[in-house]
Amino acid sequence: MGETMTRSVSWKPWHWALYWQILLALILGVGAGLLWGREAVWPGGFRPYALYDFLGQTFLRALRMVIVPLIIGSIITGVASVGASRNLGRLFGKTFGWYITTSLLAILTGLILVNLVQPGLVDGEPVGTRLGLEALPEELADGLSGRGAADLVGIIQRMIPTNPLDAAARGEMLPLIFFCLLYGIALTLLTERQRQAQLPFFESLFAAMMKITSWVIAVAPVGIFGLMAKIIANSGFAAFGPLARYGMTVLAALMLHAVVTLPLLLWLVARLPGHRHARIMAPALLTAFSTRSSSATLPLTLTRVEKGAGVSNRISSFVLPLGATINMDGTALYECVAALFIAQAYGVSLGIGAQVIVVLTALLASIGAAGIPAAGLVMISIILDAVGLPLEGVALILAIDPVLDMCRTCVNVWSDSCGAVVIAHSEGEIVLRNTADETANLPST
Ligand code: ASP
Repeated sequence: MGETMTRSVSWKPWHWALYWQILLALILGVGAGLLWGREAVWPGGFRPYALYDFLGQTFLRALRMVIVPLIIGSIITGVASVGASRNLGRLFGKTFGWYITTSLLAILTGLILVNLVQPGLVDGEPVGTRLGLEALPEELADGLSGRGAADLVGIIQRMIPTNPLDAAARGEMLPLIFFCLLYGIALTLLTERQRQAQLPFFESLFAAMMKITSWVIAVAPVGIFGLMAKIIANSGFAAFGPLARYGMTVLAALMLHAVVTLPLLLWLVARLPGHRHARIMAPALLTAFSTRSSSATLPLTLTRVEKGAGVSNRISSFVLPLGATINMDGTALYECVAALFIAQAYGVSLGIGAQVIVVLTALLASIGAAGIPAAGLVMISIILDAVGLPLEGVALILAIDPVLDMCRTCVNVWSDSCGAVVIAHSEGEIVLRNTADETANLPST
């Protein structure tokens, strides 16, 4: 312990804890993106933008490579071990209950702030005309046109894969998770001999995937540098200008939820200080921020929750993949603020009844949104449709969406990780067994 206290700071970043490395990569990425933008050319004709793109995309591909086999191994072993102790129903109930509760709290935070700040009005005038509705990009318009309130039924229907292998091959998470849950339950109902013919295979599949994941995580700072530099090179901070008040409302609500509500719940239920858990989760949160994808971050979330927070594989492999897909507090909050902002911008004032519909559809839209970049943006159409607003309103918030997506994805992953710890605590597990490791190699105390 004394050794930890007197350890000197290493100036070699590769000796630092992962989250410091990622933070450095984020800062360097922003700097590089500002310095050498999309059109910059280095001597010799080399374009730095191509390098950012290469590093970022290669990292994303590596993350995506592990997701499907990791989910299959993780859910089947998780459910089979929970199911064997006949606790599956209880665990599922708790997980679902927690997820719905935190999502609703997030939405309410957004609802209150957007009503207080009224970002859609400037001097009492709707901002819609001032901002001028831009035309929707074609691919987004296509995505939107097939969606609406009737799509909610579709979300439930699409949970059931017509062909599980096809769902896996396409990387469709919800049907894949649904099938793996069923498969895990079925395994627990087999005879011991039949179960033992399969379970060890899935356990070792999961262990091997976690190993590959750790290799991908080791190079995360390089990939994150590329992703960040590319985002900044593309849009800079200019997008913030006219939408500042709306963006700030979303960010303030996300902050309130992430820094006040969730840590408070974490403390009340699990007696765990939020800042300590945040430190453990930092690599996953920073990865969520730069990849804008809860699904792509799942390998890191799983690793940090198990190795850092000490949650058992039994709990985390059940709670986290489910959370990455259906528990999106940040997205739910954002849906609500964005829909009300659009209504205000059009000069439409929504009454209590309509706002209740917004809350409920925001919840469902967040459950149905995939854990991929901009999924939440596309889902807004469900809410607009439900309260009768024109879908073109989405054009108002396009420019600023990537920045908000980064922040809401971070909150999505943060909420999943808090959920895992709370559920583990409620199941009598001791968490935080490895906190000592977390402070190793920090450049400062
Ligand atoms: N990008 C978010 C996520 O992956 C979803 C969204 O667009 O809100 O969690």
